[in-house]
Amino acid sequence: MKINTIVLKVASRCNLNCSYCYVYNKGDETYKNKPKIFSIELNHILLKRILDYMNKYNINLYTIVFHGGEPLLAGIEYYKDFIRTYEEFFFATGKTINFVMQTNGTLLDKEFTQALFELDISIGISMDTTEATNSRYRVYHNNKSSYNEIKNGIDLCNEIIGNAGILSVINVEDTPIDTYSHLRSLNVNYANLLFPDENHDTILLNDTRGKIGKWLTEMFDLWFFDKDNDKPEIPLFSTLIKLILAIPDGNDIMGKGFGGTMIIETNGDIETNDTLRVCKSGITKSDYNIKNDALDSIKNIPLAELYYFAHHRLSQTCKDCILEDICAGGYLINRYSNKNGFNNESVYCQDIVKLVCHVQNIIAKETDRDLNLQPINVDEVLEDIENNKKTYNENKYLESF
Ligand code: SF4
Repeated sequence: MKINTIVLKVASRCNLNCSYCYVYNKGDETYKNKPKIFSIELNHILLKRILDYMNKYNINLYTIVFHGGEPLLAGIEYYKDFIRTYEEFFFATGKTINFVMQTNGTLLDKEFTQALFELDISIGISMDTTEATNSRYRVYHNNKSSYNEIKNGIDLCNEIIGNAGILSVINVEDTPIDTYSHLRSLNVNYANLLFPDENHDTILLNDTRGKIGKWLTEMFDLWFFDKDNDKPEIPLFSTLIKLILAIPDGNDIMGKGFGGTMIIETNGDIETNDTLRVCKSGITKSDYNIKNDALDSIKNIPLAELYYFAHHRLSQTCKDCILEDICAGGYLINRYSNKNGFNNESVYCQDIVKLVCHVQNIIAKETDRDLNLQPINVDEVLEDIENNKKTYNENKYLESF
């Protein structure tokens, strides 16, 4: 395992109360026992741990993602101090940390945006797929919509930094055309689309299987056939195109890459991807903390090891699937069930199949014949997978979580 990204929980609380949030509203209440802010003292320890790790694994470029809760709650001075300490620690080491912030954007004003720009901290803003959906789910603790403040944050990024990017969870309540129009109206440079954090048990409460695949294929068409050079990058689609063309790539959702991210909680705990908490309360809890342990201890956490190799430790159904190299089981969280642990295909398997086949067929038609890319029949792929599923294959390792 070689991890080059830390998602740092700068703040354990949030000024919003989004109804679907995995941190606060999916049953895991561990945040209540954590410090509200990752302290400056811990920052010193963390930077030293990162430098040790980079030296040990010969890594020259590392990434810290400031995350939360809501990372802007820490205030401007906190980040100035953080970057000052980083510059002192890393001076003349030949090593670099790339800083990113994932925020809800509501607390961005001119001064904060300018300060982050000058500190060379890139900003990604989370929002929902349209104004109406954002106003329904992405609300303050008094239920008031946060849309205007988020939009203001995006506008400030465009004005001061010259670019803006958003991250949205796919929501089939919004039509693809409304979603794409909204996206274009924001003038963002990129928009990442995430699958909802559902698994084989939780999906039963709001079953969107089938709908998501249809939604994604329509969204892909809107994006792919939009000939405007200023259209936003949608990493879910651009990565998929590369994988279909057998160009090595991948992310948490697809491809044969590795889950090179770890979490540092506000109390210094070293954990794996915390969205996995939606599978089972406390599932990401570990005994390691940066006060006592090197970052390397992440490799002793079984769930972190599974997360790192998530696209390589697959159920037999996925191993036998014709799309294995592209989909690689999908997002780990979407594979979980109480009954089988992670020994399942993605709960969005049929949606992924629809999207992959649709994109492959379009690319096969639109691109050079020399690529020799063959059209693929979605019904045949789905039938094959259903047949594979009929034989249950025990996997004690995947079922042990
Ligand atoms: S069986 Fe489904 S989830 Fe597994 S690799 Fe194939 S498409 Fe992906």
